[in-house]
Amino acid sequence: MDCIFCKIVKGEIPCYKIYEDDDVLAMLDIAADVEGHTLVLPKLHAADLDECDEQTYKKVMLASKKIANHFLSQGFDGVNMVVNCKSAAGQEVPHLHVHLFPRKNGDNVKIKVDHPQIKLNLEDVAKKLRLN
Ligand code: 5GP
Ligand code: ZN
Repeated sequence: MDCIFCKIVKGEIPCYKIYEDDDVLAMLDIAADVEGHTLVLPKLHAADLDECDEQTYKKVMLASKKIANHFLSQGFDGVNMVVNCKSAAGQEVPHLHVHLFPRKNGDNVKIKVDHPQIKLNLEDVAKKLRLN
């Protein structure tokens, strides 16, 4: 399969590894943006959230929590965890991954949704989207 993250998992493309276990790899993102920007991914290929089985998802999320806690213990003040699911949500690499952005107080990094405020009837939205 022509997946860049699968090639990294197989060692065909190098990366700066932050964490590895039997099922999960975490590496520094090549984007030169936030110090410590890390991607946590399953070794088993799954394109995105809806393709990922529950066991694999749990392993990725538990590893993400472990790494986030590690960043906090290393002197960072906070961490953002972000998953972009599908191109409509900005996903560029179709191999599921969690972005971890280690944060410092007053670092001025903006992760929040940047969108004009719109008038929404929250009752209608809740009726439409409620799952149970
Ligand atoms: P997405 O937009 O799919 O959520 O994020 C993909 C991320 O993968 C981007 O932040 C991008 O910088 C990173 N990326 C793309 N190619 C590589 C690569 O070859 N190695 C690493 N370490 N990160 C990559
Ligand atoms: Zn892959």
